[in-house]
Amino acid sequence: MSAVLVVNSGSSSLKYQLIEMTGETVLATGLIERIGEATGSVKHTVAAGVVSVPGAAEVRGDDETFRGTEPVADHAAAFRVMIDAFEAHGPSLAENPPVVVGHRVVHGGKRFFEPTVVTDLVKINIEDLAELAPLHNPANLDGITAAQQAFPAVPHVAVFDTAFHATLPPAAFTYAIDAQLAEKNRVRRYGFHGTSHKYVSGRTAEFLGRPLDELKTIVLHLGNGASACAVDGGRSVDTSMGLTPLEGLVMGTRSGDLDPAVLIHLHRKAGLGFDELDALLNRRSGLVGLSGRGDMRDVVEAADAGDAAAALALDVYLHRLKHYVGSYLAVLGGADAIVFTAGVGENSVAVRGRALAGLERLGIRIDPERNASPERGARLISSDDSAVAVLVVPTNEELEIARQCLSVI
Ligand code: AMP
Repeated sequence: MSAVLVVNSGSSSLKYQLIEMTGETVLATGLIERIGEATGSVKHTVAAGVVSVPGAAEVRGDDETFRGTEPVADHAAAFRVMIDAFEAHGPSLAENPPVVVGHRVVHGGKRFFEPTVVTDLVKINIEDLAELAPLHNPANLDGITAAQQAFPAVPHVAVFDTAFHATLPPAAFTYAIDAQLAEKNRVRRYGFHGTSHKYVSGRTAEFLGRPLDELKTIVLHLGNGASACAVDGGRSVDTSMGLTPLEGLVMGTRSGDLDPAVLIHLHRKAGLGFDELDALLNRRSGLVGLSGRGDMRDVVEAADAGDAAAALALDVYLHRLKHYVGSYLAVLGGADAIVFTAGVGENSVAVRGRALAGLERLGIRIDPERNASPERGARLISSDDSAVAVLVVPTNEELEIARQCLSVI
């Protein structure tokens, strides 16, 4: 048995998954939230195995979820809570000892393009990159340090969200500003959601039974954060997020693209300072800013019920999405596949159908029945006469991180 523990540490949360890699089976998942607050939130789910029922065929049992609300002071305490949950509810970490702990790290800058075994020097570099990802890298680092204390005998590997975009050509990653100023301050486009774009583009090739290196794919990762990626032969050649995960598509709370002069104007005219602008664009924009609702389910429901602000928010979201699809069709010189993934992409029939409506002349034709199918796995939603295959492929960033970890140890 070789298990990998995959960890995603946020500033006040710890998400984990224990995966047995021989059969790529999830053994348990968990989410510890409200770290540092008076009341914590702990959720530990033991994945169901196949159980033998007397007199019946073997069946899959139900996942079992355990919840707690004990306070969790910091990341070190969160790992103790996690280990206690494994001990109390299983599966046993002694029987499934992780051979490696994999950490999601948001920003790898220009230093980290590969999964990297964590050393003291690597940690210093991750800290140094915090100026590019102040909300994420420090929290990722706290998680790594706490995990090293909890699991001192195994290697820890950092997998960077930016890494898959190492192949972006200079024309795609360079902002047209003063070159020296940009270089000195590391200002360029990096791209994010790389682990997801890599997994989904690979899975698409597998699903279509085509060699990855021959495939041109547009991946639309539409979650609370959202980004598009043009993948040519398994390599990222363009992506919508930039220096930070703020650029590009309209998101739950983030604006995505806007004229940079809007910031200057709001500073001069409305007196907004940098922190206020930061909060405005990252937390109070996107679907929330336009409609007061950040959850796409609520936006679609309100729009259907005649709410004008929600309808506009949805229109702006879809208009931007269509822009990027058109843009990446041009960048790639035509695509073999367009793939929807993440919370909105995997679940919203309305968003998928409307985002690609009216593109028949470009060879893109969605089959309404396939699009509305309640099926869960990777699936085709275009019609048989669509020149471009349109798919839904559930993302699996944890499995991709686990695979990458095993590849370096
Ligand atoms: P993620 O960041 O990938 O977890 O995705 C979270 C987003 O997925 C939230 O904004 C949810 O509104 C959205 N989502 C989940 N289920 C649905 C659904 N059935 N329809 C529309 N959006 C959904």
